[in-house]
Amino acid sequence: MKRRRKIALLGGAFILGTGILTPIVDSSVVSADPLDIRKPSISGFISHDELTRTLNQIEQTSNGNVVVDVAGYSNHGREIYKATIGSGDKVVLIQSEIHGNEKVGTKALLNIIKEIGKNNSPEMRQLREELTIVAMPMVNPDATELNRRGNEMTWEEVVEQFPQLEGVAPSWNYYTYINQYWDYKSNPGFDVNRDFNPDLDYVPQPKDFPNNSSAPGWFITPESQTIRDVYKDLQDQFGTVDVFVDLHHQGEYVIDGTDDPVTLSLSGVFVPHPSTSEGEKYREYADVYNVDLSKQLNVAAYDALQQMGNSPFGNISLYPQDLDLPGTALGSFALNGSGAVLFEITGQTQSYGQKKLGQLTKAVETGVYGILNSVATDEVYELDVEDYDDIPLTDR
Ligand SMILES: [Zn+2]
Repeated sequence: MKRRRKIALLGGAFILGTGILTPIVDSSVVSADPLDIRKPSISGFISHDELTRTLNQIEQTSNGNVVVDVAGYSNHGREIYKATIGSGDKVVLIQSEIHGNEKVGTKALLNIIKEIGKNNSPEMRQLREELTIVAMPMVNPDATELNRRGNEMTWEEVVEQFPQLEGVAPSWNYYTYINQYWDYKSNPGFDVNRDFNPDLDYVPQPKDFPNNSSAPGWFITPESQTIRDVYKDLQDQFGTVDVFVDLHHQGEYVIDGTDDPVTLSLSGVFVPHPSTSEGEKYREYADVYNVDLSKQLNVAAYDALQQMGNSPFGNISLYPQDLDLPGTALGSFALNGSGAVLFEITGQTQSYGQKKLGQLTKAVETGVYGILNSVATDEVYELDVEDYDDIPLTDR
């Protein structure tokens, strides 16, 4: 803790001293086509300062229903928050913006925390009584401030933290490239969402670098460590984290066999089943892995969105299903027994900007409420697992 604090202060000084908060892409990236470097406004999204203010406000006006804590710090010393609501014995962990250019989820999550904390309707009271909801909006705040995917961290900083990695090749998810949007060359970082390991006590070993996307990550970033620690605390307290929801964005797609633009995609499958030959390497997790619950949770979200009627809210597709991504939070936590749901909202912020912001925010809220209500009422366990496979695929 003490060490983190020190890093936090140094980080803060560094940020101010070098003016790193100015949009780095506009000043240091040369592009052949000037149109390429025009950046859509992101002023409608939430900054880290605004997150801090909003969470404080929500806590203060929630009559004690919402408790906000600092769960940890980003590599540059920004607070990573968790907001806890409810006192039920079913646990739901929801996070947003592990990729800092995927911002709608944070807006939706703040609305959800506020509503469940404040509203005294029977439905909201039931959520508070039946569930313990832990919301972690904006878990990668350094990336948020740069409107980019990766965090802000050098391989040298990793080696400083884990001296056993001296002389080892950097992990495969270390970004050092430059393009029209980002300059990772002068300001490198990691894809935090490939830094998870289903062994939640894993300690980095030189033999596990640089690895690849179908191998587990290492918990080398403070952001993944913070999320992992929150997850483990919940396991200690409740046994299992029943549900894990991760809010992301994707490119722009249409629903398979149609011209309908996808509003968002869902998924509950991130690794091959541990009981199959492809999933052999995950055999030790076979007893707790619960893909049926993941599928039921996805169906709950899908059904809630379909109930919005014939509208963009109905244009929901299933994300590709043949994934093997144990280094994602979803992959690692699903192997630990959580029912897992991925939201992939249309459009990356750096190119899509804040188009349809209200509609997309509402769609995410609707899907998440579908999950929360179905878990609070136990209806999720009655849903037909096979309905999951009827969700139309994304056309790619
Ligand atoms: Zn993402």
